Amino acid sequence: MANPKKKTSRSRKGNRYSKVKMAFQNNHGLLVHCGHCNKLIRAHHVCPYCGYYDGRLVVKPEEKKEKPAA
Ligand SMILES: [Zn+2]
Repeated sequence: MANPKKKTSRSRKGNRYSKVKMAFQNNHGLLVHCGHCNKLIRAHHVCPYCGYYDGRLVVKPEEKKEKPAA
């Protein structure tokens, strides 16, 4: 069985989860700025305002189906 060589310290574990944990405690998910319109959007999601993802237009804003998260 593959085992970790060293125990993960409390500090290291806390560091790893700090960002994600905060996001879930605040109940909004991870927020980043949209690269196109610079609004706060969820990370790794198509921007609900301008429909851009990864610097290109993926969905036209008027024909988006999912409601804006964030
Ligand atoms: Zn945007």
